[in-house]
Order: sequence, then structure tokens, then C-alpha cells
Amino acid sequence: MIKAVRGTRDLLPPETALWNFVEKTVRDVFRAYNFHEIRTPIFEETQLFARSVGEETDIVSKEMFTWEDHARAQSEKGQSLTLRPENTAGVVRAYIEHKLEQRGLNKLYYIGPQFRRERPQKGRYRQFYQIGAEVIGPASAGSESPARDAEILELLTTLLDRLGIKNWNLELNSVGCANDRVAYNEALRKALEPVAANMCADCQRRAVTNPLRVFDCKVPADQPIIETLPRIGEFLDEPCRQHFEQVQTILKSVGVDFQINSRLVRGLDYYTRTAFEFTHGALGAQNAILGGGRYDGLSESLGGPAAPGIGFAIGEDRLVLALQESANAVQIKPDVYIAPLGAGMNSEAAKLARELRRQDLVVEMGDESFRLKKSFETATKLGARLILIVGENEIKANAFALKNLDTGKQTSVPRAELASKIQVSA
Ligand code: AMP
Repeated sequence: MIKAVRGTRDLLPPETALWNFVEKTVRDVFRAYNFHEIRTPIFEETQLFARSVGEETDIVSKEMFTWEDHARAQSEKGQSLTLRPENTAGVVRAYIEHKLEQRGLNKLYYIGPQFRRERPQKGRYRQFYQIGAEVIGPASAGSESPARDAEILELLTTLLDRLGIKNWNLELNSVGCANDRVAYNEALRKALEPVAANMCADCQRRAVTNPLRVFDCKVPADQPIIETLPRIGEFLDEPCRQHFEQVQTILKSVGVDFQINSRLVRGLDYYTRTAFEFTHGALGAQNAILGGGRYDGLSESLGGPAAPGIGFAIGEDRLVLALQESANAVQIKPDVYIAPLGAGMNSEAAKLARELRRQDLVVEMGDESFRLKKSFETATKLGARLILIVGENEIKANAFALKNLDTGKQTSVPRAELASKIQVSA
């Protein structure tokens, strides 16, 4: 038997109703903040991720689904392609390709699958879904302002509130800019020199190639060593320090709670200045529900114009998990179940169903071969509270038997009054 590939999964009803609820709520919130949707391809040239996410990151060094795509015609050339492991790189590529700087400040959001070859476990999949947003544009359009950072963070708290997710925790840090990074990397390298030999193989490599990535290490034995390393906060230059101060001031004035986590550097190379993560208590080991930050140099490093930006990505799978922990599942039930009774009644039932559905009712139908008892059982199983009987007599009278399965009460309702009657009783 062929099964879904390890790390991928099918989303089945009724869980998909929860996904739809999440996506609808998210779109409503984005609208209030004047964000607009962008959709980019699910695969890109491999180089895009190598140059943005960073060669030394776990994502690029071991988690990407990459293949050599052979030329199909002489006019084409073969190229290395990769299923997107995240969507910021794709959005910035599109920003450059379509000259979106001409639009001033772009406030974009996306919802879609991402792919990483990680070890699957609860809350961690190889195909997972992200809901993300990017605010990007020329500095003259205000893209660099700490007001953007604060707006993004405040939006996220509104979003979590609207979804009914409680017990989240916002962790905040500033990872500085390219200037600070030179001095900091130097200090880290020095501090790591005498201790790296006692660390895991990954850290030994990172200590030389990209010391910042040591903070991504999850190996328990390495943690006490990592605790002793210098913190980026001590290396921020004056503009970066002030930027971070202002983000915090606005957050306090709008009443958004946060904690400074000076170890938070995020696992991707493109971040500058503000970096953040929201964690959630109910999620266990994979407790990061979303993450993001500023990436002021990303566009330029991909050959584009200067375009400061800030964004986030929410793990939709984990968001749904957190919702399942804290709320009752949303389930859509039919408002009415139509039971066609006897030969020829399927077409009459279909006509009625069409009328009622056009008035926004959720309608399910049986089959004229069903005995009434079977229709009742099916309606009950589906959670419908009303059953509408369509037989010869009803058609002649143009009035239908509507039975309430909870109370057992049955009334005859003229065709023209059916929709309103169902609406009030369902
Ligand atoms: P990142 O791009 O790594 O910062 O991820 C942003 C968010 O996506 C994380 O906070 C998680 O909620 C989610 N996420 C990342 N990787 C996975 C995965 N393999 N499975 C499920 N969710 C993930």
C-alpha cells in the first residue's frame, strides 16, 4: 500500500474547518492593517536560498529538497532547483524582479506550504504551512522605522487574540546590523577558540565558519558553554541601540508585553536589528509558534536596491495545534437534511436544495432509495437538527414536512417559508 511520505500528512475534515477558520481570521486581520496577499512559486533557484538564508544554516546545509532540473530543450539550461524552505527569500526576489520599490512601502502577506527535510515529530513536519508577512520598501517610504517593527508585533498580538490563543510569550532581541556583526563575530570567535573543542561537531564547524550559528545549537551539553559567550546586545552601535529602544517604547505604550532574550539570534543569516519569537506553553518541545525580524540588507545581498524590511512567519500547523489545545474544534454541520421519499423525488429534492443553498443554508441530501429510518439516522450522524421530507404529497401541496430531530416536532411548511423557518430553527 502506498502511504503519505514520511513527514507529510493529510489534513482531513473536521480539522480542515479549523484551518479555514484560522485563515479567514488572519485575512481579516491583515485587511485591517492594510496588508495585501502575494503568492510566489513553491520552488525557486537553489542559489536564492543559499544567498539569503545562508550556506551555514541548518536549513541550507541539510534540510532543503533540492534537485538538478535537466534541460528539456536546447534553448533551456539545466539548473538546480529547491522547494522553498521559507517564503521571505521568494518575496524579496519578487520585490526586486517586479521593481516593487516603485510602489513605496509594500505590506505583503502569504499563506502556503514550505518544505524542510527535518526529523519529523509532533509539531514538526517536512511539508508544513506558514502564514507570513513582509513590510518592505525604500527607506524613504518609512521601511526602516521602528514604528514598522512595533506595528508588526502589535498586529501579531491582535491576531493571536482574535484566534483565541492565550498563554503566548513574546521574546525580543536586537541582532544589530552588519557593522556590529563584524565586531561581535570577532568576539565570539575569540570566546569560542578555547572551548569549541568541547562542543558538538556542528558547533566546532560553526565556531570557525559562522560563530553566530552556535546559538542555534540544541545539544544539552553545549548549553552551559553557550551561556558564557558574549551577547550581541553589548555590541550594538548607537543607531541600532536607539532603534531597539524605540521599538520597545512603542510596544510599552500600546500595552504589548515582551521579554528580552539576549540569546535569540534566529536560525537564518539575513536578520538584522529586531528579532523575535512567540512561544506557546501547550506546544512542548516545538514551542515556537512564530518567528521573524528585520532584514535590512537582504535585497541588496540578492542584487536588488536598498530595501529595509521586516517580516514574520507563523507555523500554521502549530497554530492549529495550539487552538486544539485551548478551544473546541469548529465543525460545520448541515442546517437541514433533505430526505427524498420514493421514486422520482431525487430531482425534486435537488431543486429544493438548490433554492435553499442559494439562501446560504448548509444542505445535505439523502437518496430516494433510502427508507425514512435510514435518512433519520444519517441526518443524526451528520449533526443536522432538521430533516425535510420530500414526497409526492408534499410536492402536490407545495408544502413540506419539516421535523426537528431534537424535539421530535413536525410541521408542514409552505415552500416560500422554508428558508426562513430553517434559519430560525437550525
Ligand atoms: P522559521 O522560518 O524557522 O523561523 O519558522 C517560523 C515558524 O514556522 C516556526 O516558529 C514554526 O512555528 C514554523 N515551523 C518551522 N519549521 C517547521 C516544521 N518543520 N514543521 C512545522 N512548523 C515549522
